[in-house]
Amino acid sequence: MTPVLSVRGLRAYYQMRYFGTLREVRAVDDITLEVRRDEIYGLAGESSSGKSTLIKTVARAIRPPLNVVGGEVRFDFGQGERNLYALSAEDLAATRWRNLSYIMQGSMNVLNPVRRIRQSFIDFALHHMALPLPAFLQQVEDHLAHLSLRPAVLDSFPHELSGGMRQRVTIALATVCRPDFIIADEPTTALDVVVQKGVLAMIRRLQREMGSSVLFVTHDMAVHANLTDRLGIMYAGRLVEEAPTRALFHRPLHPYTAHLIRSLPRIGDDAPRHGLEGRPPSLASPPPGCRFHPRCPLAMPVCREVVPPMEELEAGHRVACHAARQGILP
Ligand code: SF4
Ligand code: MG
Repeated sequence: MTPVLSVRGLRAYYQMRYFGTLREVRAVDDITLEVRRDEIYGLAGESSSGKSTLIKTVARAIRPPLNVVGGEVRFDFGQGERNLYALSAEDLAATRWRNLSYIMQGSMNVLNPVRRIRQSFIDFALHHMALPLPAFLQQVEDHLAHLSLRPAVLDSFPHELSGGMRQRVTIALATVCRPDFIIADEPTTALDVVVQKGVLAMIRRLQREMGSSVLFVTHDMAVHANLTDRLGIMYAGRLVEEAPTRALFHRPLHPYTAHLIRSLPRIGDDAPRHGLEGRPPSLASPPPGCRFHPRCPLAMPVCREVVPPMEELEAGHRVACHAARQGILP
């Protein structure tokens, strides 16, 4: 089955001139991945690993100094693959909301503070639906009811709603046009655990019912374990491992993934969590070879010089690690 999203060799750098010299922050560096129809693909990694930059680039929601310097982003919404960056502004606008919906980090703040929620729905979504206003509003109400939101929220101002309610409304807004592909960046991070659970269940249900694909970003591995079908791990601008979520938790092949999983709190286990020495590198001057080598307990001389290629070592399980290639597991 053809993937809905194909990212190939994507590089997106922040490029700044500093006294005549070009300074580059390589936030997304040679990333290749696919998201299939009808799956939730998770993207994990510490903050500033490039996750948000990657999905901004995938949504073509970038502006200078962030530039795409290589690679491709292709979508297939059922009429053949198209390069997102080759679309005209008009065609791009036509894909928004109906084909591709992007729930940005902190997106509860997209709701206009001085307008009632109803007006935000009208402002954002009405012209994508080609419906007369009364029919559109009926559809909005049906969609809200389906998501267990009272139609009365339409009369509210954003500040009258709780954070969890605002996030639900934002997700309702992003999905009212039934998009083929939903991109969500840390949509539950600001919420408490109980509210978070409700929002995640809502995303899962919408995805199943609409048969859409979701690209879901969070640093929270526990959320990935509960929500995603496949998972990619980013470190310092690169994808270092990718597998079905269950396989990845069961048997991580990359030392960094193993670290992320071991850092998860476990019920009934009071053993101290293993910390990792050091911090992620600056993306303006990342270390040569494997970018993880200064922190890696398995680092070998080759790791300091040669970038480990991403290879499929088990069916559907890709990893970029010299040790893993030699059968050494973290
Ligand atoms: Fe560690 Fe080397 Fe693997 Fe990088 S390539 S994760 S440094 S063993
Ligand atoms: Mg982020």
